[in-house]
Amino acid sequence: MTIGGEGTVRVRIAPSPTGYFHVGTARTALYNWCLARAAGGAFIVRIEDTDRERHQEEQYEGILSALRWLGIDWDDGPYRQSERSALYDIVLDALWDASHLYACDCSREAVVARTKGNATPGYDGYCRARGLERGPGRALRFRVPDDGVTVVHDLIRGDVEFANRTIEDFVVAKSNGDALFVLAVVADDRDMRITHVLRAEEHLPTTPKAVLIWEALNETAGRVPLPAFAHLPLLVNAKRQKISKRRDRVAIEDYRAQGFLPEAMANYLALLGWSFPDGREFFTPADLVEAFRLEDVNHSPAFFDEQKLLHFNGVYIRALPLEEFTARCRHWAQETGGLDVSVLSSPEWGVLAPLVQERVGVLGDVGGYVGFLFDETFAVEDESFEKAVRRDEEAPAILFEVRERFGGAASFEAAGLKQALEEVAELHQRRLGKAQAPVRVATLGRTVGLPLFESLEVLGQARVLDRIDRALERLGGGAD
Ligand code: GLU
Repeated sequence: MTIGGEGTVRVRIAPSPTGYFHVGTARTALYNWCLARAAGGAFIVRIEDTDRERHQEEQYEGILSALRWLGIDWDDGPYRQSERSALYDIVLDALWDASHLYACDCSREAVVARTKGNATPGYDGYCRARGLERGPGRALRFRVPDDGVTVVHDLIRGDVEFANRTIEDFVVAKSNGDALFVLAVVADDRDMRITHVLRAEEHLPTTPKAVLIWEALNETAGRVPLPAFAHLPLLVNAKRQKISKRRDRVAIEDYRAQGFLPEAMANYLALLGWSFPDGREFFTPADLVEAFRLEDVNHSPAFFDEQKLLHFNGVYIRALPLEEFTARCRHWAQETGGLDVSVLSSPEWGVLAPLVQERVGVLGDVGGYVGFLFDETFAVEDESFEKAVRRDEEAPAILFEVRERFGGAASFEAAGLKQALEEVAELHQRRLGKAQAPVRVATLGRTVGLPLFESLEVLGQARVLDRIDRALERLGGGAD
């Protein structure tokens, strides 16, 4: 840790309850959490729910639940901006008393009409010198100095300068008196003695406004050191577009529901803009806390690669002890209803679980792998039947011969079943894999899945024969 001293780091995540928890916000939370944990500091959760109508209770709970799921714990909060308006009023009064604000009664239309075609966009300062009193129907604007520059010291990007003349006199309180986001953030960050503000790059343009408010308050309401800023790189998709809800999967909840493991998710998120000094890709949260340096975060956009995330998830799934794998499946099934939990305590599951664990990408795939066992009304879909059975001229003969051998088998075990199929393959001068295909689809319903012979053994002789008979009948009956 090179920033701040022992115990002095105070950071926060300030999500807006928008209805889902964005993977980018999760990454921001994780980096903040790392800083706090590395320094023995504090990580604070603050929900920016100033836009009251839009924010529902369940969205608030959703944020906390997503954080908990990812293993990101907090030391203070959750605070809610909607409950802190008294503080914002005090801050507004202090700024007003020191003439950093002025009241404005311009309508949006009037501003647009006046400023159309102006070289510098934004508010034109019309009310600056009008000396209006504060009151209902009047917004409050910050009086941005005409000259000079506002510098944002950014730990990732270095100093970023904004010429003050390019910053409009921005609104800090609406005409109904409610503080706006830009003011509430500063009031809270000061009040909470935040030392580092890590947030998404898209907030960089508002940061000089925050710095201006902060410095104005330092003059009038007591000095609080400015936090260090760090704007984290954008997350982009394969087309290098900023990931968005409209075109990409961005909600942590969706990944959770699909059966991603939280530790795989957190590990992958950590690598979006940062890499482990020795280049390793898999690490524990403790390793991450130890190795993470904000200065090592880069500023170029990070590719949010779902395929890579899927690969990570597979690696994490395979590393679980078998019992833990089952426990995770159970937990997932209970949470989502995506799988009948009784499957997981069946004897069949006991046999197949290791084979499933070796293959699944996400827990949500488990049902597809073992469904053939628990589907009482088992029926092969037309498309698979067509491809693997009906189009194969030798399929009827293969199924018939396999049925004979399977039917006569004294013990119904994988090794013997394999041998029987090898014999049939030889008769047809086929490789085993090719001879397996119609049998697999007739009995398991899928062209890919668990190893065939183990699956057949678990399915049991009676059901296997019945399914082969049904396939033969279906073939005999012509097109269906
Ligand atoms: N509320 C903002 C967001 O959800 C974060 C602002 C901040 O961190 O200062 O992206």
